[in-house]
Amino acid sequence: MNKILLLCILAASPSLADSVVINNVNVFDGESEDLILGVSVVVTDNKIVGFGGDAIAPTDAMVIDGGGRTLMPGLIDGHTHLSIVAGPRELQQMQWDEIGAKMGVRATDTLMRGFTAVRDLGGPVQGLKIAVDDGTVVGPRIFPSGAIISQTSGHGDFREPTDPHPFLEGGSSQMQELGYYRIVDGTDQVMAAVRENLRKGATQVKLMGSGGVGSEFDPIDSVQFRPEEIRAATDVLADWGTYAGSHLHNDAAITRALENGVRSIDHASQMTDETMRLLKKKGAYMNPQYGWNVFVMSAGFLTEAQKEKAAIVIDNLDSNIALIKKHNIEITFNVDAFGGYELWSNLYAAELTERQKFFSNYEIMRQLTSVTAGLLEMSGKRNPYRGKLGVIREGALADLILVNGNPMEDVSILADPQNNIPLIIKDGKIYKNTLR
Ligand SMILES: [Zn+2]
Repeated sequence: MNKILLLCILAASPSLADSVVINNVNVFDGESEDLILGVSVVVTDNKIVGFGGDAIAPTDAMVIDGGGRTLMPGLIDGHTHLSIVAGPRELQQMQWDEIGAKMGVRATDTLMRGFTAVRDLGGPVQGLKIAVDDGTVVGPRIFPSGAIISQTSGHGDFREPTDPHPFLEGGSSQMQELGYYRIVDGTDQVMAAVRENLRKGATQVKLMGSGGVGSEFDPIDSVQFRPEEIRAATDVLADWGTYAGSHLHNDAAITRALENGVRSIDHASQMTDETMRLLKKKGAYMNPQYGWNVFVMSAGFLTEAQKEKAAIVIDNLDSNIALIKKHNIEITFNVDAFGGYELWSNLYAAELTERQKFFSNYEIMRQLTSVTAGLLEMSGKRNPYRGKLGVIREGALADLILVNGNPMEDVSILADPQNNIPLIIKDGKIYKNTLR
């Protein structure tokens, strides 16, 4: 039996206790640089109700001896795609029930990696979220974006070269029908697509704002959506109490997005000093990922055209990092994992280890918890989970992981969750406990 399947079965029924007390732990609270040593954390129902040296647990609480390990908030991934379980070409031909089954496994595997919340930045996961929240499928809290919204020939126009256009010729495709993407042009179509996603439970919406690496029909330097189209989307989202996330690589596209209300700049690989200043002024989040390009370049399955695009991103890496440091930008943690299982799975470790080249362990620990929680909380009135994520403090949601060793000294130990994360609690329920 493979390990992941075994984990699914082990995790299939969370332990239910009204109160849990975890004693003898060193706590990373999601924000402070110093661990809080030798304390207890008490969970009742789905909240943290006691924290510190003198935390008192109810007499019938389940007691867990943390054994001097590190307790920290559950990890948060600000950019994932739980429904993109294969490349676009395969997804067009895969049966929906195979896709659905694989999505369930990914959700379980994500939680078993210690990720208790994710923002899914494109693809049909609203139903998966319902199945996770009602306990049918084991998985993380999901903030779904729904169908990716792209202009014709934009980064989310996943059609094959000869596929008919949905409006010009009246064609459709399986990916479109399953809700992976929508091709829209003009403010009316953009607004309708955004509203349709909101109707189906999106907590924020994803726009494709520039060219990308993996696509075949949009140059990476292309700027996508006219200013009025972006503004139409962000206004409609503001009316609903939430925001737009946008796939953006080049500087001109990032500037246009920021000037038209986009507050979540995803990828953000090519930015000037001026644009970084604008990002800071607007209070927008910058959501880059580092494992992807390096990993896929070395994995050797990119076409020559895709390699040229990836090289542009990689060439900009050093100057991009220098600007992040100069402007003191608190970036979020994002794996952007999708594709076949092996690639998907390897990207998590790649993201953690790549980040160590540029950021301290403490900085990455904040990115993995409280900083990315702030990004998720931008969903405002559409945030389905009431309570604070990404921190350990009284009143916060009880999403917790226990780590063998000290990730503040080497965060890469989190890349081996099977051996290094013996306890996973989400919403006050124990999903993994190998301490017994
Ligand atoms: Zn993505």
